Amino acid sequence: MRDDGIDMGGTAARRPGEPWRELNDVGCGYLSVYFSEPLARWPIREITRPADNKSDPNIETGTYGLFSTCEPGMRNRIVHDGAATVFFLTTRKKHQGRVISGYYHLGWYTEGTQGAVNRDYALAADTVRFIDPILATDLPEPLATLCSAPFRTMKPIDALAVASLRSLCDERPDRTKEYLGEVTRIESFARARSGYAYPSWAREGGFTWDDADDYYQTDAELSKVPNSSKSRKWRCRVCGYLIKSGALLKKCPLCKQMATLAPEEEVA
Ligand SMILES: [Zn+2]
Repeated sequence: MRDDGIDMGGTAARRPGEPWRELNDVGCGYLSVYFSEPLARWPIREITRPADNKSDPNIETGTYGLFSTCEPGMRNRIVHDGAATVFFLTTRKKHQGRVISGYYHLGWYTEGTQGAVNRDYALAADTVRFIDPILATDLPEPLATLCSAPFRTMKPIDALAVASLRSLCDERPDRTKEYLGEVTRIESFARARSGYAYPSWAREGGFTWDDADDYYQTDAELSKVPNSSKSRKWRCRVCGYLIKSGALLKKCPLCKQMATLAPEEEVA
């Protein structure tokens, strides 16, 4: 437990104040699948994913959807349904199958840069716990079937499944510090190779709470922006820069303005 009251394996972050609001918890939750880093010893997010560097789950701040545009539908439902516990699943190597690596218990939410009009909510955890990964098929039933059945990116789960998965995670040693160490190590590795920890965003450093202020919703005039681009190309409406990215980025890599990118679709 940290001195600011957030249970997170001893890392430095802070309890969210403004503009964060308390998230309702009705007991249910989500399973959330993420790409894991092939170069890491622990299954952290895929920081080095080519042209699509990943910032979520952002365990260094205990946030989800603050720095990325991942899973707007899930974030929206979490806020509106009070589904406050998210379990993270990933596949390390195809033949090994899916593992559960940890969970967030979410305590707060706020509007992200794209605003509520785009269902863009950022989520912040009051508890972050990552563990020695458990193979989904090794879980007791019905959790094994629930977690290993094919679904693409996320699945809502009921309160009973949340309670069972959470107690399985809580009875295992907390490895969050080891995961955090791998985030730092992989960022340094990427920086040594390209000059950037996150080359797809021209971002040299990692993420801390000091970066959060740039990612809050401040523009009341926001319009709807598609979350995907068939061409994987995006144009900045401020500086005109054309970027290639698998996902919509919240910040323009060139002019560093927020919420300025829109899909650039090829004209047939
Ligand atoms: Zn720009």
